[in-house]
Amino acid sequence: MKYISTRGQSPAQSFSEILLGGLAPDGGLYLPESYPQLTDADLTAMRAMNYRELAFAVLSRFATDIPAADLKALIDKTYTSTVYCNVREGENPEDITPLHTLEPNLHLLCLSNGPTLAFKDMAMQLLGNLFEYVLAKAGQGINILGATSGDTGSSAEYAMRGKKGVNVFMLSPHGKMSRFQTAQMFSLQDSNIHNIAIKGVFDDCQDIVKAVSNDHTFKANYKIGAVNSINWGRIAAQVVYYFKGYFAATSSNEQRVSFSVPSGNFGNVCAGHIARMMGLPIKHLIVATNENDVLDEFFKTGVYRPRGAANTYHTSSPSMDISKASNFERFIYDLARQDSAKLRELWAKVDQGGAFDLAGQGLFKDVEKFGFQSGASSHMHRIEMIRKIWQQYGLMIDTHTADGLKVALELRETDVPMLVLETALPAKFEESIQEALGQTPVRPQGMEQLEALPQRFVVMEADVEAVKGFIQTHL
Ligand SMILES: *Cc1c(COP(=O)(O)O)cnc(C)c1O
Repeated sequence: MKYISTRGQSPAQSFSEILLGGLAPDGGLYLPESYPQLTDADLTAMRAMNYRELAFAVLSRFATDIPAADLKALIDKTYTSTVYCNVREGENPEDITPLHTLEPNLHLLCLSNGPTLAFKDMAMQLLGNLFEYVLAKAGQGINILGATSGDTGSSAEYAMRGKKGVNVFMLSPHGKMSRFQTAQMFSLQDSNIHNIAIKGVFDDCQDIVKAVSNDHTFKANYKIGAVNSINWGRIAAQVVYYFKGYFAATSSNEQRVSFSVPSGNFGNVCAGHIARMMGLPIKHLIVATNENDVLDEFFKTGVYRPRGAANTYHTSSPSMDISKASNFERFIYDLARQDSAKLRELWAKVDQGGAFDLAGQGLFKDVEKFGFQSGASSHMHRIEMIRKIWQQYGLMIDTHTADGLKVALELRETDVPMLVLETALPAKFEESIQEALGQTPVRPQGMEQLEALPQRFVVMEADVEAVKGFIQTHL
């Protein structure tokens, strides 16, 4: 299996070759040359598999240049009930992604039982093990530089801590993350993890990462890399739980289900799209946004108009506060039937801060064939939904999952099982739960005293040279 760029002007590469990189050299995103196709017999065999077996069945079709025994060992080490241990009462940790049935044909697929209590652990934990493996084979190292406002940074740090050949330098806005998220990251004592609190806002952190990455000499000399949401390995690992959820909610391959996905960078729902392209019987993929509804606007009107950081709302589902959905290009490439010239034409506008409009073009009508629907939510909706689910089912959900549920309830069809992806546990967003329910969520075992642990971080000015200097002296 080779990987090609959506923009069509980069050489084809193997899974291992694209694993450590970000964008393709032509500015596009990597996708497999074609999607593996699963037969009914394949699905029947997969139905009987546990999470690790399923992960191998899916990922071995994508990571064809990693010897099967090695891939299997990496998967077996990753998807254990010890890593994904933060389950609710009544859930079986061996399921890895337990399915929680609210009522007939309405389920929550729980993806947040990993170490940082958010779905990003599902892929990131595997990525940590894959990075270590690929780097050891090549006799190389990598220094991951990233910016975070919470979820991505903590998930990357918990995946990369203690990994040989990997250092992490994570920038976060000083004093602007929640106390829980700050404590989660800053309490890590691993010598390969470096937390840098920047005196500024998230965009200052991101600007520094961009400036360092654009210094090509520095980047090459210090082997600077990233683990951002466009990484193909993350998308591939996320495909697995769509299969797991489907099998848990159905008893025959004749049945179809729909998924509702709280969306930001379009990474999670992109994995669902790929599962569907591989032959998983998915009826609808519902893109649920918060007030930052760039994607909802596209699926309703055909206009894709990224907003820019200055016009991004800060909401109570902060991990969905995006101005530009970085994985969206992967879907549009498929929508355009792999026409990379068309893709270049559309993204020539996006890359200059503009928009494109597919309304009235045959292309936009095809969105339906790909199963996509969308909806948006607001702070009031989230609070109402958290209350409703608590009152009706005695279940506490977080703000992002609430966005997914709100849109799912609007669009669900009575005879089609609806699976809402739970993307974080409520303990991560205590302030909103307090507002909705007048009580704080119970934390998973061992996290009760998180804020009391010693913290390891440095505070720095928003200064590119200072950050470069810090990296140089800490390698
Ligand atoms: C990252 C994140 C999202 C958005 O996922 P995308 O893959 O960026 O669409 C939703 N909810 C939570 C809790 C997240 O951390």
